[in-house]
Amino acid sequence: MSYRISFRTVVAALALACCLASSTRAMAKIKVVASLTDLGSIAAAVGGDQVEVKTIARPQSDPHHVEVLPSYMVSVSKARLYLKVGLMLDQWADQIIDGSRNNKVEILDCSAHIIPLEVPTTRVDGRQGDVHPNGNPHYWLDPRNGGIVARDIAAALGRIDPAHEVEFRQRAETFAKECEDSRVDGVARIAALPNRTMITYHASWVYFAEAVAMEVPGHVEPVPGIPPTGGHLQELVDLIRQRQIPVLLQEPYYSQDAPEFLARQTGIRVIKASPSCDSAQPDSYLAHFNKLIAEIVGS
Ligand SMILES: [Zn+2]
Ligand SMILES: [Zn+2]
Repeated sequence: MSYRISFRTVVAALALACCLASSTRAMAKIKVVASLTDLGSIAAAVGGDQVEVKTIARPQSDPHHVEVLPSYMVSVSKARLYLKVGLMLDQWADQIIDGSRNNKVEILDCSAHIIPLEVPTTRVDGRQGDVHPNGNPHYWLDPRNGGIVARDIAAALGRIDPAHEVEFRQRAETFAKECEDSRVDGVARIAALPNRTMITYHASWVYFAEAVAMEVPGHVEPVPGIPPTGGHLQELVDLIRQRQIPVLLQEPYYSQDAPEFLARQTGIRVIKASPSCDSAQPDSYLAHFNKLIAEIVGS
């Protein structure tokens, strides 16, 4: 009995095999865990369908102080890539990574190619409570740094999944371009303001301010991580009046007492805003930046 496989059968079999292979690939997404939603959102934009992103710190809570939960270790135990902020912000991540007992996870310090601001020129005494001993770690709030991080994430993903390396790089370039477009738009909108100064509670916004040519002449905290004294608040009242500073940016996880006092004394407008974006969705990072600009210009 002769047995002949038709061309049609071969094509069908190949199509099925191909289909199975691609669905297997689709299931085997690269698991990424990020300390912050901001890094997670950038990873989602760069990784596209090839990644599954989880994040640790909630956007409405203080990124300097995160309670280490066993569920975070479980997430990292399955991850291929961990995205750290670095610059001493998320030292809590080390505890999560150690606890995950995952020796295959690659750790990317996303600050690696950032030019840090506010690097102390003298050795900082930890007992002073300064939470920025290696310079200001809130670099993700400058979209130019978002572009730098996107390229580093693309390189890391490309090492893990070389078959998609070109796509990761292309998405990172597209993302970096969108970041710069948003920043340039933000600069123009801020430039139209009569007064481009603001007070911020914590020094979360120095990169943001630099990105859009704003000036931050004072912080509610006299030293990062240290609550204000009455004397410092009085200095701020004088400063706000003297320079007619219109806006105070306050992170949602600090006490409202000092901002409310300053608002009563000077009429300064308090904007409550998290330094982190809402989620690890790919568009969340830039939506957060654009929303900050809109709130500052009051539209
Ligand atoms: Zn900080
Ligand atoms: Zn002071």
